[in-house]
Amino acid sequence: MEPIAAEACPPSLCESSDLILSFVNTRDVDSGPPGPPGNRAGLAEWLARVGRPDRDLVVTNADTVAADELRSTFVTIFRAHAGCADSDTSVSEAEAYLHRIAERYPLTAKISSDGCTLVPAQTGVPGAFGALFAAAADLAGRGGWSRLKVCKNPTCHTGFFDKTRNSSGLYCSTACGSQMSMRAYRSRRKNG
Ligand SMILES: [Zn+2]
Repeated sequence: MEPIAAEACPPSLCESSDLILSFVNTRDVDSGPPGPPGNRAGLAEWLARVGRPDRDLVVTNADTVAADELRSTFVTIFRAHAGCADSDTSVSEAEAYLHRIAERYPLTAKISSDGCTLVPAQTGVPGAFGALFAAAADLAGRGGWSRLKVCKNPTCHTGFFDKTRNSSGLYCSTACGSQMSMRAYRSRRKNG
């Protein structure tokens, strides 16, 4: 698989990763750590942000539960991508969950002379969740799926797209990276 250079993030690849990250990084409050959409307003706000403000969009409690489950499933997988899986079981449970619920969000192939993209077969909230599956398929097809990670800084938890040449990034930002190496340095001095 061709590596993705830091400077070359094809627009559609960015679009797919941005969509998933905007969902994973939904925050309850501006300054707090990323949290599940958690409430109807939070989910509606995400839906509006990703350009799915259907006029008669009704966000139900079941939708917010589904959003929370889907989000924590993605987080489990992206933690594993960063090499900090909680356990093999949690990853296989996350995979089984995604296999199971994918049926709820069918995709259709949209073929043009330029190529083919998968698009959600539904509108509204199921369509928005379907768009996440389509984005995952797009990323996986082009070697970008395993680059979606959750920051290894235990106080951060931000999802990010790893643009390093060899896919070795562990932190969402240089700030988190230096915070963690400073912490490792201090603990080495303390123990050394
Ligand atoms: Zn971070």
